[in-house]
Amino acid sequence: MFISFHGADQNVTGSCHLVSCNDTQILIDCGLYQGGRELTEENRQPFGFDPADVDYLLLTHAHLDHVGRVPLLVKQGFRGEIITTAASRELAKLVILDAAHLQEEEAEWQSRKLARRSHNKAEKVEPLYNTLDALDCLDYFGRNARYANALKLADGIQATFFDAGHILGSASILLQLEEAGESQRVLFSGDLGYNGRAILRNPAPPDEVDVVVMETTYGDRVHKALQPSVAELYQAINDTFARGGNVIIPSFALERTQEVLYYLREGVETGQLLASMQVFLDSPMAISATEIFRRHTECYDEEACELFENGQDPFHLPGLHFSRQTAESKAINRIGGGAVIIAGSGMCTGGRVRHHLKNNLWNEKCSVLFVGFAARGTLARIIIDGAKRVKLFGEEVRVRASIHTIGGFSAHADRDELLSWYRQLGNPSRTFLVHGEQEVMQAFAGQLQNTEVIMPELGQEFPLRVE
Ligand SMILES: [Zn+2]
Ligand SMILES: [Zn+2]
Repeated sequence: MFISFHGADQNVTGSCHLVSCNDTQILIDCGLYQGGRELTEENRQPFGFDPADVDYLLLTHAHLDHVGRVPLLVKQGFRGEIITTAASRELAKLVILDAAHLQEEEAEWQSRKLARRSHNKAEKVEPLYNTLDALDCLDYFGRNARYANALKLADGIQATFFDAGHILGSASILLQLEEAGESQRVLFSGDLGYNGRAILRNPAPPDEVDVVVMETTYGDRVHKALQPSVAELYQAINDTFARGGNVIIPSFALERTQEVLYYLREGVETGQLLASMQVFLDSPMAISATEIFRRHTECYDEEACELFENGQDPFHLPGLHFSRQTAESKAINRIGGGAVIIAGSGMCTGGRVRHHLKNNLWNEKCSVLFVGFAARGTLARIIIDGAKRVKLFGEEVRVRASIHTIGGFSAHADRDELLSWYRQLGNPSRTFLVHGEQEVMQAFAGQLQNTEVIMPELGQEFPLRVE
C-alpha cells in the first residue's frame, strides 16, 4: 500500500493524489494548477505516473482545481472508471467544458500574438486540451456515489463519500484498504466547508480514520461570521438604491452565485430588501449551474429542502432575470440605477463583469460588492486595494463607485472549523497536509497533536503501513 502526491503539494491548486493497493491504482482528484504563468505551465508537465495504469478516479468535488486535468488524464491513456456524486458529475461536466473552451480561446490568442511577432507563421500554441478531449473524458464517468454508502472498487478496496459541506455535491472520500492481512482507513478531506451555511448540509466526516489527507487553505486564520456579512450585503444594496445607483456583484458561477441569490430571496421575503428590486444574473455558466442546483435537492440542508417541498424555489425572487445571450447582457447597460447585476468572473479577470464595471465604476451612485477571494494581481484585488483609476478595454476608468468587500461568504472552513472537523476523526496516526500555502500549513501543523504530520512535496511517495 502506497500513497503518492501529484498536485496541491505546498500549494493550493492542482489537487491530485494516488493510492495503490493490491495492484489497483486509485487517483483522488485530478485538478488544474491555477495562478501565475509558472503554475499554469505545471499543467503541461507529466503527471508523475502513467495514466493508463490508473483504475479509478474519485472526484471530491467539481471545482476546476480538482477536476481540471481530467481531459488530459484521458488523453494520456486513462481508461478506468470515474466516480463522484450525481451533483458533482453534472457540475464537473459544466466546469470541464468551460475550461476546454477557455483553453482554446487562450491558445488562439497566444498564437495570434506569436504570428504578429515572428516570421514563422506555422508556429501555433496548442491548447492544453480542447472541447473534443473534454467530451471524451465524460464517457468515463461511471457509478454515482451516494453519501455514506460504501462502493466496492476491488477485492479489499472500498470507497465511501461523506458530505464535505463545501459546494453542492462535495465530499470527503474514505478508502478502506486491505492488503496482506493489514487494513487501513485513509480519508481525503477534499475541500471543506463549515456548519450553518445556506443550502448545504454540515460536513459529516467518518469517526474512525488511520490516515488523513487534509486541505489547509485557511488553516491560519478565522473568518468573519456569516450573519453580519448578510446584513452588510443588504445594507450596501439599500444604500446604493437610495442614491439611485446600480450594485455590481462580481461572482463565481458555482456556489457563490447561488448563495447570493438565496440571500437576496430571503432579504425580499423578510422585508429587508425591496420586492421591486431588479436582479440580473448575467453569466451563462452561473445560469446553468443554478439549474443544476435546482435538480439536486438531495444535497440540500433541511431549510432549503423545506422551501423546495413547499413549492418554493430557493434561488428565485420576483425581479430576477437570466441573461444568457450577449444581446440581453448588453441591454443591461441601459439601466442607470436600481439594479443588482451579478456577473463573472469573480476576480474580474475576464467575462461580462468587466463591461458592467466600465459602465458603473465611474458613477459615484453605484457600488461594487466583492463577495469572494481576490488573488494578487487581479482586477478585483486592484480595485479592493483602492486604485483610483483602472484600465478596461483600453480605456481609463475612474473609480468613484463605493467599493465593499464582504468577507463572510467563504466556501472554505477556517482554522477553527478545520480543527473541529479534524477532532471528529478519532485519532489519525498520520496527517498529510495539502492544498495550502507553505506558511499557512506550517501554522496549522502547530495546532495538531498526537499525530505524525507530513507536508508532502510534489512526487513524493509514502508506504501506508499499520503503526
Ligand atoms: Zn473547492
Ligand atoms: Zn480546492
